[in-house]
Parts: sequence; structure tokens; C-alpha cells
Amino acid sequence: MTNPLSLSKMYINGTWVDAQSGKMFDVTNPATGAKVGAVPDANVTDVDAAITAAQAAFGPWKKMAAKDRAKIMHKWADLIDKNTEELARLLTSEQGKPLAEARSEISAGPRSLQWFAEEGRRVLGEYGIPHKTDARMMVGRQPVGVVAAITPWNFPVSMITRKVAPALAAGCTVVIKPAEDTPLCALALAKLAEDAGFPKGVINVVTCSLDNVVAVGQKLCGDARVRKISFTGSTEVGRILVRQSADTLKRVSMELGGNAPFIVFDSADVTSAVDGIMTSKFRNAGQTCICANRIYVQQGIFDQVVAALETKIKALKVGPGDVDGVNMGPLINRAAVAKVQTHVDDARKHGAKIVLGGAAMDGTTSFYQPTLAVNTNDQMIVAAEETFGPFAAVFPFTDEAEVMARANNTIYGLAAYFYSNDLGQAFRVSEGLEYGMVGVNEALLSSEAVPVGGVKQSGYGREGGHWAMEDFMDIRYVLMGGLKI
Ligand code: ADP
Repeated sequence: MTNPLSLSKMYINGTWVDAQSGKMFDVTNPATGAKVGAVPDANVTDVDAAITAAQAAFGPWKKMAAKDRAKIMHKWADLIDKNTEELARLLTSEQGKPLAEARSEISAGPRSLQWFAEEGRRVLGEYGIPHKTDARMMVGRQPVGVVAAITPWNFPVSMITRKVAPALAAGCTVVIKPAEDTPLCALALAKLAEDAGFPKGVINVVTCSLDNVVAVGQKLCGDARVRKISFTGSTEVGRILVRQSADTLKRVSMELGGNAPFIVFDSADVTSAVDGIMTSKFRNAGQTCICANRIYVQQGIFDQVVAALETKIKALKVGPGDVDGVNMGPLINRAAVAKVQTHVDDARKHGAKIVLGGAAMDGTTSFYQPTLAVNTNDQMIVAAEETFGPFAAVFPFTDEAEVMARANNTIYGLAAYFYSNDLGQAFRVSEGLEYGMVGVNEALLSSEAVPVGGVKQSGYGREGGHWAMEDFMDIRYVLMGGLKI
């Protein structure tokens, strides 16, 4: 049965269009390798048209009363909610995650849109007597302008809504460039946005393949009409986009790679810590930028934690995301499988004991066995780099000072987690971890209401909460002078 939300044209200026070159590229199901759709392969001329449309739509959208923008955003949220099942099936077909996870991701879309629709109505300024008594200052906020949102494939719906919700609420217009692996969800969201009644040009989606992504990226960063780049993806690409944005002095938000430590102290509740590791490590088959990469367990409870993990990992059911009971799907592609294998082989070479898994499920698909390793050490690649796959490497540690030094010994600073029932330790460690987000006895950190983002080479800017609105607004100061007061 065909999915009514599976589309094969891009959305520019309120119109469904092909690439001007006529070129398309295929979208495949990572569970089967089968083609699930084909979308336009945009190049610079298409992106130019999208920027022109967003620029033309910006003035009227900015001037619209916030309550009226909110109405349309709420309508979009309702439509996403109503179409959860079709969207979830589309998401699973191009991304691979189990349907239950897809549904949960989609529910984050309406939550972001609703939250920011209301936040947009509460943007206020300040008023005061400045350096002169016959003058008054007014400090307000204005939307930055056209925003380019470049999003990854691991959360093809929520990474878009998380960016565009604050942007639209602030009065910005957007050009969305989804990942080449998962463009279908972006187009489906655009269709629902059209049905919700956004004026033409406020939301535009350009899809492109890897062949065109460099030119498209240069155009989005280099065009002076785009006033802000909001990016989620690898640190490597983030660096390129920041460099490219320098010439036009664009504002940039970068949500980049992580290498999350997950620390379990002797005082922790072992059951909830193990549940936390399972959620953090195996959700989306380990393909989240905030997922546990280095699991540090204190010596007193090491064997107990590893035994409990072994039992839980053995119980994971791996398979296509649309099969009942499956709780881990495939990786996004064969390159991702090869990367996990490199980390596992390297750990083995440095003396790790692979307790479970350690290999791809077969030689042709993108499924990888859930893997557990002990006898690990800091010389292994897995200690330094994000694996982005279902490889749980468990490292023993002796005391707090030692594990803190090891946890902070990375260029990344996105998310960190620890489990402890010692209150003093909870404050010491959460203040000592050099990360943008810290989960204390909690493994799921993100929501529309909290500031998601990193420090160090995990980037800057925050997505979620009132902090996110600031990223899409400039300060405007007006001095009213010569007043006969
Ligand atoms: P990952 O390693 O998770 O695939 P990437 O950083 O490669 O993450 O990709 C994240 C997003 O950045 C995707 O939408 C991808 O198409 C896009 N992208 C990759 N390279 C570039 C580039 N040179 N310019 C602009 N966007 C890019």
C-alpha cells in the first residue's frame, strides 16, 4: 500500500517542484536495501529559488501577529499528530528504527511546535532611562531573517521541528535541507505544513544527494540573504559550515558530535543504572549524538552491572523496524556497519573481551549484533571517538577523581550521564563534567522545554526552551531622544 505522505517533489515557494536539472536520487530502506522512493536532486539554482522565496515571505511573516503565527503552528502540530501512523511508517522505511521509536520521535514534533507557538507570544522587550535624562531606551527583539536548517538522518522528523519551531515562532522563514538518507520525512512535514496554511515561502524544503551537498552547503552558507545556519550533524561538517559562514558573518548554531561518558558509581541503584545504559546505548541502534559511548562502572559493582547488561542485551530483538516486537533496527547504511566493526576490531586488538556480538548480522544488510565488551582501556578508539552504533564498551574505574579526569579527556562536550545516590557527589560530579547536558540518574535528556546543546567541539547554541528563541532573534535598541520630560 502506498503511503499518502511519500512525496517525490520538493517544496519551494508553496509549490511542489522537480529539480531544475530534472535529476532525482533514490531513497532506500536500510532494513532491506529496497528502494522506497526518489526525490529531486537540488543544486545551487534550486537553493537560490528557495532562498528568494524565503526572503520574500520574511517581511509579511515577521509582521504577522504572534498569535496568528501560533494558530498556524498549532494547526501543523495537530496535523502531524493526526498523521502519526503514516509518518511513523515513512520514517521507519527510510531510517530503520522500530515503529515504537518512530512514533515517539514524531510525538516530539507537535510538542515543539506547540511549545514555541506559545513562547513566540511572550517575546518582550525592556524599557529604561539610559545615559541621558531626556531620552528613553527601548530594547526589543527582531527575527534574524531567513534560516537554513541542515538536519541529520538519525531523527528525520524531530531534528527539523526542533529547529523550525523556534525559528517560525520568532518570525523567521526557513529553508530546510534534510539528510540525503532521509528526505521523505522532510517532504511529508512540508505537505502537512502546506495543509496547515503557512503562507507560501515561509517553509521551503530542498532535497539533494551527496553529489550536490557540497555546492548546496556553500550556497546556503555563502548567500548573504540567509542570516542564520542551524546545523545538527558531525563536528567535521560543522567546522566546514562555520568556515563557509564567516564571509557573510552569519549567525550559526551547531549541534555536533559527542562522546558521552556514562558513569555508574558504587552508590547507584544498579537496576535503574542498567536500564539507563540500555536506553542510552541501544535507542536508535546507538545512533544518537547523545548516546552513551564510554560506560564507566566503579569496581564494587562492576561484575553485577556487566551481568545485568548481558541479560538485557541478549533479550534485544533485532530486525526490520516494522516487525512486531523488534526493539533494535538496522544501522543507517553499510558504511555505519563498517565504522562499528572498526571500533570493535580495534578494541579486540587492544585486549578487550567481547562478551556478546562483535560482528555484522550478515554480509549484505546493515544489521549489527548488539555488542558488549569488557577488559577495555583508554587506548582503544572507542574511548576517543563516537561509535554511533550498538557497541557497549564497559570500562572499570576506582575512584571519582580518576573517572572525572577520564570522562573529561575528550574534545567533545555534548551529553554526560552518571548514576549515584550520594547527594554531595551528584552536585560535585554534575558541576565537574565539562558537558552542555548532564543526566543524573536519568538517561533521556531531550525535550522541547530544556536547552539541548554542547560545549567544546560539540558546538554552540541551544535547542529547546526559551534559550532556543534567543538563537533566532537579534537585539534591537532604540533611543528616543530630545524628549521634553
Ligand atoms: P553524519 O555523519 O551523521 O551523516 P553529517 O554531518 O555528514 O552527519 O551530515 C549531517 C547533515 O549535513 C546532512 O544533512 C548532510 O547532508 C549534511 N552535509 C554533509 N556534508 C555537507 C556539506 N559539505 N555542506 C552542507 N551540508 C552537508
